[in-house]
Amino acid sequence: MSSNPHQQAITQLEEVANVLRAQYPDKVAFNRIIDRLKNPDRVLETKLKVIMDDESEQEFTAFRSQHNNSRGPYKGGIRFHPNVSREEVIGLSTWMTWKCAVVGIPYGGGKGGISVNPHKLTMTELEKLSRAYARWLVNDIGPWLDVPAPDVNTTGQIMAWMVDEWQKLNLESGQPVQTNPLATFTGKPLELGGSAGREEATGLGGVYVLEKLAKELGWSRKQDVTIAIQGLGNVGYFFAEHADRLGYQVVAVSDSKGGVYVQGGLDPTKTMVCKKENGSVAGCLCTDQGCNLAHGRVITNEELLELEVDVLVPAALESVITADNADRVKAKVVLEMANGPVTPEADVILANKNILLIPDVLANAGGVSTSYFEWVQNLNGVTWSHEEVLGKLQPLMEQAFDQFWQLKAELNTTGRLAAYAIAVKRVVDNMLLRGNSDFPA
Ligand code: NAD
Repeated sequence: MSSNPHQQAITQLEEVANVLRAQYPDKVAFNRIIDRLKNPDRVLETKLKVIMDDESEQEFTAFRSQHNNSRGPYKGGIRFHPNVSREEVIGLSTWMTWKCAVVGIPYGGGKGGISVNPHKLTMTELEKLSRAYARWLVNDIGPWLDVPAPDVNTTGQIMAWMVDEWQKLNLESGQPVQTNPLATFTGKPLELGGSAGREEATGLGGVYVLEKLAKELGWSRKQDVTIAIQGLGNVGYFFAEHADRLGYQVVAVSDSKGGVYVQGGLDPTKTMVCKKENGSVAGCLCTDQGCNLAHGRVITNEELLELEVDVLVPAALESVITADNADRVKAKVVLEMANGPVTPEADVILANKNILLIPDVLANAGGVSTSYFEWVQNLNGVTWSHEEVLGKLQPLMEQAFDQFWQLKAELNTTGRLAAYAIAVKRVVDNMLLRGNSDFPA
């Protein structure tokens, strides 16, 4: 059993290496690169001390994993969650390397986090902790070195505090500032160098992928395509909203407290308004006629995963489709919008059931792609309009999908392996071109 995201990432890498190995005449060099990619270039870990509002001092364990930077600066979010661990940030940073490679943006992979429940902190404590994190990493991140962003439970405000702290320390160091300090973090508020379109980019990027897929599968009547979405947060909501706008039938959504099923399709916008008013989506049975319990039924998160729909979209957490429940998944397609929602054991079960999996590294890459656009704008001192940003995001996602779909057919393999084969090959080729000089003997 794959026990944690790092172990999962290793299992996936070994599988894809077995597919790619035949293409490389120098097997020794190839194997050394694959071995190296099983672990990050480095993992930083510390205890951050914060003076709390009651004057007590608390310690929080913090991490930054820098997986690989052969294609560009390390790139990846910072997560504030009690479950953050060394193995988790390593796994997530590895997936970031593949994600940036699969859509062809010039970044490597990184991920950071603090083991904390941020909902238990006051705003002052949250700001102190965020600044302490940026202070700790002052020499290890930067526009051309490692570019963090928000992840679970981190926000534009947190990026604003971090960028401010990082910039202040850099100015104090007396080093001439060579590039715009704002380019050190992405996912910033619009007023502070953020990019138009970033908020909706991950969900919308997934819908661009869905559109391409629907064409390939010959799903010409969108109104007949049913979709269930686990997690009505940032990613799940914007996915639902754009899918609904284009005419797909979103029949079920959920959050941590439960879900709803509405035959004939729900109204994502009204559902979100209701969720905000009531604190949960369970009970929000909303169509364009308004919200009414008679419109459908309340379901559990487990039921949502097992619905008979065309597309199942896990958009909440890691490892929700496992060896225990994969057999009960009835969707035709699983479109992974969360990071790592399907375990490697479940991958095999889904493949045996002929369920098509569109992997996270492709499906949710719209977020990091728009982060890349934010960084480009910051480095060039320009601001693009919403239309300009989406005008760049759509072809980028569509091209990535076309390359993925073509290779999937050529290799006659699963969606996961096809996307990983593209990504890992790009990284391996890059490292081969660089040569082996920095390899351990
Ligand atoms: P979010 O915090 O905005 O939303 C998460 C949603 O999941 C919430 O609605 C929450 O209630 C729900 N949830 C939590 N536990 C659940 C459970 N047990 N069952 C069902 N729902 C549950 O987070 P987000 O930014 O939307 O991220 C969701 C996923 O997408 C994460 O895996 C994240 O790493 C990934 N992701 C996010 C982005 C981005 O740009 N935000 C980009 C790429 C990947």
